[in-house]
Amino acid sequence: MGIASINPATGLLIKSFEALEPDALQAKIEAAALAFDHYRNTSFEQRGDWLRRAAADLRERSTDFAKLMTLEMGKPITQAIAEVEKCAWVCDYYAEHAAAFLAPESVETDASQSWVMYQPLGVILAVMPWNFPFWQVFRFAAPALMAGNTALLKHASNVPQCALAIESILASAGFPEAVFQTLLIPAADVERVVRSPQVKAATLTGSEIAGASLAKAAGECLKKTVLELGGSDPFIVTASADLDEAVAVATKARMLNNGQSCIAAKRFIVLEPVAEAFAEKFVQAFAALHIGDPTQDSTDLGPLATAKIREQLHHQVEVSIAAGADCLIGGQLWTGEATDDRSGYFYEPTILKNIPEACPTYREEFFGPVALLFTVPSLDAAIALANDSPFGLGASAWTQDESERDRLIQELEAGSVFINGMVKSDPRLPFGGIKHSGYGRELGRPGILEFVNVKTVWVK
Ligand code: NAP
Repeated sequence: MGIASINPATGLLIKSFEALEPDALQAKIEAAALAFDHYRNTSFEQRGDWLRRAAADLRERSTDFAKLMTLEMGKPITQAIAEVEKCAWVCDYYAEHAAAFLAPESVETDASQSWVMYQPLGVILAVMPWNFPFWQVFRFAAPALMAGNTALLKHASNVPQCALAIESILASAGFPEAVFQTLLIPAADVERVVRSPQVKAATLTGSEIAGASLAKAAGECLKKTVLELGGSDPFIVTASADLDEAVAVATKARMLNNGQSCIAAKRFIVLEPVAEAFAEKFVQAFAALHIGDPTQDSTDLGPLATAKIREQLHHQVEVSIAAGADCLIGGQLWTGEATDDRSGYFYEPTILKNIPEACPTYREEFFGPVALLFTVPSLDAAIALANDSPFGLGASAWTQDESERDRLIQELEAGSVFINGMVKSDPRLPFGGIKHSGYGRELGRPGILEFVNVKTVWVK
């Protein structure tokens, strides 16, 4: 369908957009490089003022921006409002801390004076996904711009209005022309941008295929990349866990963003003594979810973002059931609100128990409201199953036992471990994965250090 807004709750086309012609794309790349020449010399104070203004605008117009996200990709409106507010938070956070994060550090050596300083790299390309259309962009842009880089955004093709709104927010906040630009281009044009000599580094949040393709092109030109890719996060429940709280959080952690979050809990690994009780309560919690119009405050679960995502998810469910998984609830397209002339991309909240290891879906990411449930005899087995995945993004584990807690923290292969809580991003904490979940970090101090030259200075 090209670059277009299609309302996933109805399947109706709202607006389509022309992709940039090659000359217009080239002009934007060159403008970004030109803007860097002067923008790099602006002060932290000045950049912070602009970013704080963007934060204020986000807060003031949070409902408008939230509606735009819900319209283009279908997330429940209450979650969309929370996302806009979190974007304001990350802007304020880096406005406040960037100068300290990037302050020169004196180091004693054999020189009369030696120190480490941090300088911006130049034009950074960000390729971003549709699932958190504002948050993914702001968590890249706030540190990158505070460090003095200029940015080019290639957003997902189904959220062009969000992409243009973000460009407009940053321009209205005062960032000079071409410091942050949205490129309305298809994925096929990304390689050309990566290879442009003006572009110094790139970051991509999205699928493994897209990440590998961008990294290949960047690698051939020896350009740095950061990749935030998929995940199949484990959610481990031991016998000592508070079961009711674990079930409530498990449901939220799986269903957030209509199940389309990289750090959603996807594999629920439960110790035998509590497995039956957990499964029963988990099914009840899924059955109680309110599915429907994402613009309503009461909706827990809206549509999937595109028809293709729903098709792929349903295929994974069918393959898993055919291979022997038990379907405890759901397993079908949800058509509750379909009318004759429109139908959205809804899917039933689904729990699949014990997918056989030989099934191809066993190690796949399920990007939608489908939970995979496993029963294990011991903590050793739980950790082994959790780590038996190509991914390593986040992990959540539930226990009241200190020695179990210590083992889980030490032994889970993931970029983050949350004990008795759901995995979430926070501007103050680094975020990212290992294995096929990618490399590099966003947020916290590590996030702002990704796109700077760590320069060593030695003076005699
Ligand atoms: P996707 O297809 O990889 O799309 C993500 C972005 O990459 C879009 O802008 C897309 O553009 C672009 N793209 C697609 N193919 C490309 C290619 N070959 N070369 C360069 N760019 C390309 O991802 P998705 O499937 O829509 O998004 C869901 C995935 O993102 C899931 O796996 C999820 O776990 C992951 N994710 C990870 C994080 C994290 O922080 N780790 C956060 C959110 C999502 P078009 O839209 O034009 O195709």
